[in-house]
Amino acid sequence: MKVLWLDINSSYSHSSLAIPAMDAQLSASVKEMHSWEILSGSLKMGISWFTQRAVEYSPDIILSTLWLFNHSFAMEVLSRVHSLIPGVRIVLGGPEFLGENEGFLIKNRFIEAVFRGEGEEVFPEFVKRMGETTDCYEMDGFCYLDKNGKYRDNGTAQVKSFHKLLPPEQSIYFPWDKPFVQLETSRGCFNRCAFCISGNQRIIDEVPLAEMEIRIEKIHKRGIKEIRILDRTFNANTIRASKMVRLFSKYNGEIEFHTEIHPSFMESEFRDSIEKAPAGTLHFEAGIQSFQEKTLASCNRYDKKEKTINGIKYLSSLEKHQVHTDLIAGLPFYTYQQLIDDLHILIEINPAEIQLESLKLLPGTELRKKAGEYGIKFSQLPPYEVLETPDISHTGLIKAHFLSVIIDLYYNNPEWRGLLTGLVTRNNSFLEKFTDHFFYAAYGKSLNNENKGLIIWNFCNSYFPAETEAVSIKWMEIGLSFTKGPGAESIPWKYSDMLHNPLFDKGSREHTYRYLEYPGRRHWFSYNRKTNSSKSLAKFTELF
Ligand code: SF4
Repeated sequence: MKVLWLDINSSYSHSSLAIPAMDAQLSASVKEMHSWEILSGSLKMGISWFTQRAVEYSPDIILSTLWLFNHSFAMEVLSRVHSLIPGVRIVLGGPEFLGENEGFLIKNRFIEAVFRGEGEEVFPEFVKRMGETTDCYEMDGFCYLDKNGKYRDNGTAQVKSFHKLLPPEQSIYFPWDKPFVQLETSRGCFNRCAFCISGNQRIIDEVPLAEMEIRIEKIHKRGIKEIRILDRTFNANTIRASKMVRLFSKYNGEIEFHTEIHPSFMESEFRDSIEKAPAGTLHFEAGIQSFQEKTLASCNRYDKKEKTINGIKYLSSLEKHQVHTDLIAGLPFYTYQQLIDDLHILIEINPAEIQLESLKLLPGTELRKKAGEYGIKFSQLPPYEVLETPDISHTGLIKAHFLSVIIDLYYNNPEWRGLLTGLVTRNNSFLEKFTDHFFYAAYGKSLNNENKGLIIWNFCNSYFPAETEAVSIKWMEIGLSFTKGPGAESIPWKYSDMLHNPLFDKGSREHTYRYLEYPGRRHWFSYNRKTNSSKSLAKFTELF
């Protein structure tokens, strides 16, 4: 049989581990039973690109994985391929099938079967039986409609010995050409978060450290500079996490290891290991979701606000490892005002990045099952975004989206972070009012640096006039247009001017100078006319 792996990724740099993880489990004799081809690319390539290449290969069977952001795209490709090759069989797996699958199969009759759960142990047997049409689905995890149209559901497959699986790096499909690789060091999570697909009863199964050491060394030899550790909560087991950090530290910052951590679990041994790790060794994704304890408890998380805050403060204070944090709008009992309050807390702590996402009710999660009980309205189509809850209106969630854009544009960009942090910490109502303004001001605009500067400057002019000076200084530091916004208010200093210029470099004629005048102070900026960068070289504030 001609088998086609259809691998659709959200971007060039992201690549799913599913295909190499499955392929690695096949012995040579099983693999030789069929001829294999992989069609791999990102959403950017377009539906026709995938369709044409898939049809060109003329497969007998297509295997693919669906998740939130490739679901609609992949289905469009597959329905076209099926129209062009009516006899082609299509079997899908991935997180999109962790929930109820009957409705999907009835609606999409051209899909022969879907698979629920972890596939590695079942896959070799499936490949052996793949030539027989329905018999091959009589295994854990497969859901399909039989020849009488009756729905058959074989439950959820679970890998029994994750630590014994052959590593995906052994597969010819392992994506060595990407900017980073993913390394799954354990499967299962100690937590039971109601919104997460890992929040189930699965027992935690860990790859032994000695094996991790060998695999990391092989990855290092390939010249990889970034490894994303797939360990649902890296620091849940302090002793193991500390040993792993010591192992990572051997690479002396040559490889950056991304880990997902729980900010409340900062035991002393773990602290000691990360404090000793060379700068650049670690990148932390610290899952917060919300600081509101009632909200967290409704999702089976029982974190204490103060402990979480202390954990984030501690990690950020180290200043040698990147700390990314996240909040989720739309969780039960989480109001818009609480979201703003939580953002204030995080902005004051000053982690390297804050991500604000809207809750998505993923198939198979507890929260999706309980959506009715909590009065959560959500989109029935991927990515299943929450649209409204009794605690946050639809408008509130749209505003939360704009808040997320603001945080991304002005906080997560180091060039603007200091400005936003100052504006938010000096003015309690700034974030809320700016979001209301941004809602309209940014509509249809390209959000380049100049428009970002104009939007925030116009806003401050109208609502926080005392803050326009801070925005103007930032504008001049970045070196945005001298004919627009605050730039148009700046004054060029000429070599013939009588005005004393504190930045004047007598030895160079390459520099240009401008200043902003305010009562009692003058802000000076120097620029180099010969470099491509428009950024100011130096800044000086004169008080008088
Ligand atoms: S959100 Fe994180 S801690 Fe919670 S169940 Fe999922 S992986 Fe575990």
